[in-house]
Amino acid sequence: MPLGRLIVVGSGPAGNTAALLASRIGVRVTIIDKARHPRVKPCGGGLTPKTIALSRIINLDLGEVIEHECGEVVVVTHAGSYLLRFREPLIRVSRRERLDEFMFREALRNGAEYVNDEVVRVEEGRGGVKVIGRRSIYEADWVIGADGAPSRVGRSIGLVPRSNAVALMNIASGKLGMDACVLDFTRVKWGYAWVFPLGGGDYDVGLGSALKGRYSGLLTSYVNELGLRLGRVMGHLIPYRPPSQVATRRVMLTGDSLGLADPVTGEGIFQAMLSGALSALSLRHSNPTEHYSELMGSYLRDNQYALTTAYMVYGIDATFLSRFMGLTGFSQAGVVNIIEKTTGGKLTYREALREMVKSMVNATPRIIKHIPPL
Ligand SMILES: Cc1cc2nc3c(=O)[nH]c(=O)nc-3n(C[C@H](O)[C@H](O)[C@H](O)COP(=O)(O)OP(=O)(O)OC[C@H]3O[C@@H](n4cnc5c(N)ncnc54)[C@H](O)[C@@H]3O)c2cc1C
Repeated sequence: MPLGRLIVVGSGPAGNTAALLASRIGVRVTIIDKARHPRVKPCGGGLTPKTIALSRIINLDLGEVIEHECGEVVVVTHAGSYLLRFREPLIRVSRRERLDEFMFREALRNGAEYVNDEVVRVEEGRGGVKVIGRRSIYEADWVIGADGAPSRVGRSIGLVPRSNAVALMNIASGKLGMDACVLDFTRVKWGYAWVFPLGGGDYDVGLGSALKGRYSGLLTSYVNELGLRLGRVMGHLIPYRPPSQVATRRVMLTGDSLGLADPVTGEGIFQAMLSGALSALSLRHSNPTEHYSELMGSYLRDNQYALTTAYMVYGIDATFLSRFMGLTGFSQAGVVNIIEKTTGGKLTYREALREMVKSMVNATPRIIKHIPPL
């Protein structure tokens, strides 16, 4: 039973979840982060039902950091706009600085320690790992790399994500006159723009794309069109194609450092928390990094189907069907069901693809509720 000393590099959702669970099972945990909470992380802060389900499983009540719940989502496509209604809120909106600080405090409360330092690299030896920071050198039996994108830990061990999307956001303010979240597939190629209400007249407004480009002008004009006041525009990478290996002998990568974001939605908080939890719990096994690699195997295999789904959504639906033929999968009767199941963690992308094709072949297009374009 290895357990031992663990260093978690990074204190976002991946690192905090890993530190929390590792502390609970009796591991001596040190979190090293270059930033001090509360710190800013460019993000939409949207939490899907599977993220909420996971937080309940690990006994972490996120209730106090949820600012707004979207049971209704307006989807804007070139073929029209649709109001989709969900049984459980599809998106619960958080402010990342509050979410991350809350999770960090929970990890500390459960026994993790925190050191403020920037990690430059890690060096694996036979008996342990050296973590080289700008201020000091630290030693541990195991390291969990949770330092986001681009990851110093990942680069040190030669494992880096194969593709990155880019996304920009700002906290805009004003009055929009509706509480629904908005996903707009007409603003940017191979991606979408979003509006997530935060309450109190604030909105997380952003856009992301798998294609590299300069998007700040697009985001500014989107915010202007919505009649909102633009806040500080911030951007970051979203890595969505992991390398084939997730760990070495003593180092496990998690979250964005591994490139786990969803290629279809850009969602990464769930994947960060899940990989953080699995890496920490693997420390109970005789060979933790091998165990972690096995646990992550099926997830990585589904990434291939997620990439195919992204191709259907952004390549076929957004460009071909909706723009040129006035049709979209979002008008199909079964779409709410498929979205509910995938965001609820009840359907893999492999299964979702099968359902998407089935519903497109079988169903007569039915508009759930057509609303005028925003
Ligand atoms: C604009 C935008 C919008 C997004 N919207 C959503 C959304 O609505 N919902 C969703 O689920 N996902 C969203 N994502 C993705 C999500 O933000 C990430 O997938 C998620 O933050 C990954 O968590 P993480 O813990 O792996 O890394 P991070 O949250 O990036 O945390 C990494 C931590 O490591 C620290 N660190 C970095 N380098 C070092 C170093 N060298 N030494 C020490 N510490 C270091 C950082 O300070 C940070 O605290 C969005 C991303 C972007 C860019």
